[in-house]
Amino acid sequence: MALIELRDIQKVFYGEGTETIALRNIQLTVDKGEFLSIMGPSGSGKSTLLHILGLLDRPTSGTYRFEEQDTTTFSEEQLAVIRNEHIGFVFQAFHLLPRTTVLENVMLPLAYSRRPKREHRALAERALKQVELSHRLKHVPSQLSGGEKQRVAIARALVNEPTLVFADEPTGNLDSKTGAAVMTALDTLHQQGQTIILITHETSTAEYAERIVQLKDGLIVSDAPAPKTPELYKK
Ligand code: ADP
Ligand code: MG
Repeated sequence: MALIELRDIQKVFYGEGTETIALRNIQLTVDKGEFLSIMGPSGSGKSTLLHILGLLDRPTSGTYRFEEQDTTTFSEEQLAVIRNEHIGFVFQAFHLLPRTTVLENVMLPLAYSRRPKREHRALAERALKQVELSHRLKHVPSQLSGGEKQRVAIARALVNEPTLVFADEPTGNLDSKTGAAVMTALDTLHQQGQTIILITHETSTAEYAERIVQLKDGLIVSDAPAPKTPELYKK
């Protein structure tokens, strides 16, 4: 089933006497369970596309169906419900609360969910287990390595059991070894059935996905399966 369907998406930013066309005529379908990378040079429209896909911004024209519902007709409130309950976000800068434990950081999004309070702790522990951080529950972020911080951020994105996880340059602040550990964590989630959309400008990171979409000047210039990389070279 198509989880995401973009048809004829255009995004224009209007400034004082200027007009920037950030996305032109985007057609994109993503199925449940896919692991997709979006690549492209700086200014090509990656963040704009991510904001639209993540329902953080609306297209200027075109239609966006999420789980077969036309989101362009949704109110801000309806969009917020989908964002909170169906979508997890992982950003380059981990955005963890500094004086708050790992467990509490991961429990945070649940405060805005409909989940009963008595389930929060178990859900957070489960998400932390998925990223192999069960031994760090009581630590605060300053006691963690960069790779561990990003895995906490991934656990926080997973805690609501989202339909879709977005990762925007998740390895951008990490050295290549810890970056590889974070990508391995995402790869494991994908193997468990999680749908993931990754934004990156690094080919080696993009190739963890099974499909790579290339953007240039707001256009999709390529949409193709990723080359099969032997597991050995990913580590
Ligand atoms: P990328 O993430 O690939 O670097 P962006 O999506 O951030 O690219 O930007 C695409 C184009 O849209 C760029 O030309 C950028 O300057 C422009 N742009 C992005 N956001 C805005 C905005 N809020 N207002 C005006 N122009 C914007
Ligand atoms: Mg960007």
